[in-house]
Amino acid sequence: MPTAQELVQKWDLFLAKIETRFAETLQQAEDASVELLQDSDYDYNKTMQAFTGMKRQIEDLIQKIDLTWDEKVRPRMEDAFESTEWVNESIKGGNLSSVLWDKLREFEVVLEGKLSQMYYEHVITIVDKDFRCSQCNAQLEIVKNLFRSQYVTCSYCDTVNTFKPETKYTHIGWGIVDNIVNLKFLEEKKALHKDLDQLKELVQSKKATPQDWENYKTAYTNFWEMYFKERIKYNSELKDRFAEDMQRKTDELNEFKQQTTF
Ligand SMILES: [Zn+2]
Repeated sequence: MPTAQELVQKWDLFLAKIETRFAETLQQAEDASVELLQDSDYDYNKTMQAFTGMKRQIEDLIQKIDLTWDEKVRPRMEDAFESTEWVNESIKGGNLSSVLWDKLREFEVVLEGKLSQMYYEHVITIVDKDFRCSQCNAQLEIVKNLFRSQYVTCSYCDTVNTFKPETKYTHIGWGIVDNIVNLKFLEEKKALHKDLDQLKELVQSKKATPQDWENYKTAYTNFWEMYFKERIKYNSELKDRFAEDMQRKTDELNEFKQQTTF
């Protein structure tokens, strides 16, 4: 029968292998997704569907930690250890698993951001076509970062022309811009989450002061202001929604405050 020390060594080796395999699989998933987006002539949905399949494999890999622990490692360690010190080995596995889940979530934000950036840059070039007046054939200017039908008045003959973009282009209006901005402000968002966690701790221990709430509100408001302003750079139409977007965020924070303080 293997000794406790031998079992621990084997367990460490197993965890290290999972970690290596995890990193390799993420890299493969990224490479494959980038390639598929280009090969599919920028079919974003198809690419994300394929990624969902790859993601399932990565999730299985993380879940292997718990499964292996429960089925193979724990029963043997319980026999081999003289005390309950094997519990530390369970914590080790649990810690790695939680680190990998966090990394996977972050990886998704980064990958979707990268693919969306590629998609955006591609699509903005295909709209760069001749758009001419139906009446006098004069060349007309369309607003490039506006992802819907546009009505353009010809400056020569005053005819109102309708520009109808192709589906790929209108697709940018939803999702794509958010993904790009989410990636751009990934670190800032993490910092805001950290602030929130600290505030929640203070609330739980009943130590949160009005100043703590005020400080968080400032950080929160600054973040979302920066976020929504950045989105407008990619989609000019979002400018009309800025006030509404900010109000929604303020309401969310007020609701959260009410729920946590009463
Ligand atoms: Zn004209």
